[in-house]
Amino acid sequence: MKPMEKVTVPAKQGRAFRLNAGQSITIETPKGSQAADFFAFNAENVGEWLSANHTWVTTFNVKPRQGDQLLSRFRRPMLEFEKDGAEGTHDMMIAACDQFRYEFFGHEGHHPSCSENLHLAMRRIGYQIDVVPQPVNFFTNTAVLEDGSFVSPPNTVAPGSFVTLKALMDVICVVSACPFDLPVDGWPINSDSGPSELVVSVQ
Ligand SMILES: [Zn+2]
Repeated sequence: MKPMEKVTVPAKQGRAFRLNAGQSITIETPKGSQAADFFAFNAENVGEWLSANHTWVTTFNVKPRQGDQLLSRFRRPMLEFEKDGAEGTHDMMIAACDQFRYEFFGHEGHHPSCSENLHLAMRRIGYQIDVVPQPVNFFTNTAVLEDGSFVSPPNTVAPGSFVTLKALMDVICVVSACPFDLPVDGWPINSDSGPSELVVSVQ
């Protein structure tokens, strides 16, 4: 990829991006309110992946915040959350959607999903992976209430919001524009008007 080239990840699809250590990736939601499921793998060993759980148990916060290091499942720093242009509206709790999540909500037939997008994006650049790690979900509005309840209020992320992450090792990042579009009360995930595209640049 040429410097600053912008790649559109179409609504409901995913794409993989390779970053060398020191490069940064910026993910933008041009229309706003579009969840970006984010995965990362060590480019030398895709058995080492970004682990949301190992990250938040180290930062002591279930939200990724500007300045945080995002850790692999071996607790090694993979990326630094360099710039948060989305006012902290992110999540590290929601598992990537998959076919069965849509069936759980009553959908019949095939539905695109972040899990499928991850596998397709990795295969497109030559990798077969056997896992769907817990993603970091940028532009996703969730909260843990005092009694432990977990809620997803309406997605209020403004158009043009973005995040920038700096690679601390050579990594393959996958960005999925979450296809969730079911009218489930209390679980909006994306904009009421449906999923939209994301724009990604590597610099
Ligand atoms: Zn999804």
